[in-house]
Formats: sequence, structure tokens, C-alpha cells
Amino acid sequence: MKKVFDGHIHHLFEMPIEEAIRIFKLEFPVTGTKRQAFMSIPNNVSPEREFYLDEMQNIRMLYLKNAFSPTAYAFAGLEHSLDVVERDSEALSKEYLRQAEEYASVGYDGMKMLEGYPSLRKVMKRTLCDKVYDRYYSFLEENGIPVTMHVANPEENWDIKSANEYAIKMGRVYDHTYPTRLQLLDEVDGIMKKHPKLRFALAHFGFMSYDIEQAKRWLDYENTVFDLTPGGEQLLKMGKEWDKWSKFFEEYQDRIIYGSDYYAFPQDEKWEENFLRRPKFLCEFFETDTQHEYNGRLFRGVKLDETILQKIYWDNGMRWFGEPKKIDLEYLAKKAEELLRKTNKRAEFADIDLKYILRNISEK
Ligand SMILES: [Zn+2]
Repeated sequence: MKKVFDGHIHHLFEMPIEEAIRIFKLEFPVTGTKRQAFMSIPNNVSPEREFYLDEMQNIRMLYLKNAFSPTAYAFAGLEHSLDVVERDSEALSKEYLRQAEEYASVGYDGMKMLEGYPSLRKVMKRTLCDKVYDRYYSFLEENGIPVTMHVANPEENWDIKSANEYAIKMGRVYDHTYPTRLQLLDEVDGIMKKHPKLRFALAHFGFMSYDIEQAKRWLDYENTVFDLTPGGEQLLKMGKEWDKWSKFFEEYQDRIIYGSDYYAFPQDEKWEENFLRRPKFLCEFFETDTQHEYNGRLFRGVKLDETILQKIYWDNGMRWFGEPKKIDLEYLAKKAEELLRKTNKRAEFADIDLKYILRNISEK
């Protein structure tokens, strides 16, 4: 596969970090991944609808960056306590700013936000443009620190009749108690109105494949981009109206960054199929004009121009992420020790990983 700058990689499977590193090392050469941004997801809502905090996510991403230096990047996530809804807004606002300052000063390259995910937004109650985030966003805006946010989800998930089986199984179907897709997009717009120079990437094309005008409005802000990570088959939808979207890709060829929502997949009998699924889809979609299949759906590739492809696969990522920031290795060690002392961590293999990190932190 062609050389890519993958701006959207996670580590969420339950396996020791040593194992994840070993697997990533096998996967990256196959998928052409020459640079990689690891995205932290500290808070989420489980399929059982439990709101949780995984205190290992941020440190794991920073260590993965260390392990894959000098080509790797790490994006931190805000850590919200489980009683976040009851917390005083003024105190929270200061806490979010404090966290952003901390992460920026120790070697994280940006912030990843899952707060726009419908289930997370529902339990956290405050809007995405609530004043509680003002100081945080102002800090990011003033310091040119990029944010990648997952906002909304595919439109069909708001209707049980149109949602697919997988979405239903994962609890990703939304009734009237959830904010709507448009409500979430309005809130993101609310952030941009307050912080028009924020460097803001919307993951999965912001689920805007339903409305090209909305997508263009997003790019009217000067420092916004789309991350094209597949999700909810956004690209397949665009492919069906490609005459329209091809002009969009032409016009905004500098504003689209590559990402694959990629993992170190467990090395079972489906390993290869699993880790290749999204990169292979992206390659077939953008590089060919023939028919292929993705998740049981047939599609025809759109064969992008070589120059546009090169920008999306590599150049735009290099410009957007810049060079990786230097990691404060003392901080990494201190944080690992602090977390080792903490009991009842949510993540499996937490202590094994922390000890591994302490043994293997390396100057690069
Ligand atoms: Zn993701």
C-alpha cells in the first residue's frame, strides 16, 4: 500500500501494551503507515450504557508515541470525573484548562474529543459549546493546538427502522432522549463562533455526507479540516454522488486528512482481515475505478487524481500535525508511578502496562 500519514489510530483492545506494540509493528509496514497519531479516549459510554473513565488511555497514548518515535504523535483526551454533571461549571472550566495546559506542556500534540458522540453527550448533559469549555478552547485556539472531535453519527442511527444490526447491538440507536445529529452539529458551530481560529478536525467527515453545503460551511472557518476516517459508510454515500463530491475534493484538496480508525487487532484467525479492512477499503475507494465490497456492500472506486491523493495521504497530515512535540519523559515516568499507586483502575493490564512503561521509557 502507498505511504500514509494515519491521523486517527486507537488502542482500545484489551491486551498488554507490549503486545499492542508488537502487533502495530507487524501491521504498519503492510498498511504503509509511516506516521501515526494515537488518539486517546478516556471517557465513553459502554454498550451497557455505563458512563466510564479509563485513566490509562492518556498515558498509554503518550507511551505509544514514545515507542514509535520519531514518527508518532499522541492526542490526549480530557478526563471527566463520573460526577461531571453535578460539578460546578466554574471549577470545571478551570480544570479543563489545567488539563489542556498540562498535556500541551508534556508532549501531547493535540486533543482528541469524543464528547460529541451522542451517548456521551447525552450523559454529560452540557452542550459542546457550553461556557464550561470556553477557557479550554481559547487556550487551544491561542496556541494553535489541534483538536480532533467525533461529532454525531450516521443519520440512520436516529431511527431504529433504518439503523443497521451492528449499531443496534452496540447500543448506537438514538431516540428522542438523545441530541439529534443537527443539534450536535449546531453545537460544534457554536464552538467555532466563539473560537473562529481553532484548529479543528472533524472525524469521519463530521457525518456530513448528507449535506455538501453543510460540509462547505464547516470549511469556511479558516483552520478546520475533515478527517476522512471511514465510519458509518460516509464515503460510500459520497461515492454514489461522486460528480458532486469530486468537485468538493478538488476544491478542498488541502483540507482533508487521512485516518483509518485503526487498532492493534488481536492476532486471532481474523487478524489480517480485521486490520486490513479499513486501509484496504480506503485504498480501493480512492485509488481504483473498479468495483469492490466493503462490509457486505458493493461500491465503485472514485480514483482520485495522483496529486490530490498524495496530499490526502501524506502532505496534508504533515502540515496539520507538524513535527511531533518532544515528550517529557520525567512526566511520563511520574504519571506511571502515580497511576501504579492508584487502586481500582478500570483498564485490564493497567499495572502490567505501567510497569512495562517504567522499564521501557526511552530517549529517542
Ligand atoms: Zn476513532
